[in-house]
Amino acid sequence: MNDLKTINKGEKFTHVSVGNLHGFTGKQFIKDATGATSCEISFGTLNTGESVPFFHSHKQNEENYIILSGEGKFQVNDNVFEIAEGSVIRVSTNCDRNIKCTSKEPMTYICIQAKEGSLEGYTMTDAEVTEHTNLL
Ligand code: ZN
Repeated sequence: MNDLKTINKGEKFTHVSVGNLHGFTGKQFIKDATGATSCEISFGTLNTGESVPFFHSHKQNEENYIILSGEGKFQVNDNVFEIAEGSVIRVSTNCDRNIKCTSKEPMTYICIQAKEGSLEGYTMTDAEVTEHTNLL
């Protein structure tokens, strides 16, 4: 079982942790703990030979899977391809998807779901450099 903890929280931030990813099991959604309003983030781990027990599709949200460890296969509709640590897979709305671990070590991944087409400004088209005292 995972232990999602709120580490600290301020007016403008929330810091939570699922702990050491090497011992992470199952699935943990994060949005409710952080109060995120733009996306849902989840951590997932699959053991050797294990896949998600169902295919699923999203109506409005695209998903971005980031593979943190292990190797496996990913299926989008009838397309199957190999994935491994470092892979990032973006999946559109209205298609079926599943993920399977084929490595000896568990496959741990992050999935970020956000409304398809919602991203407007990003990186330096949204950000501005500010003057602030560095306390780090
Ligand atoms: Zn999903």
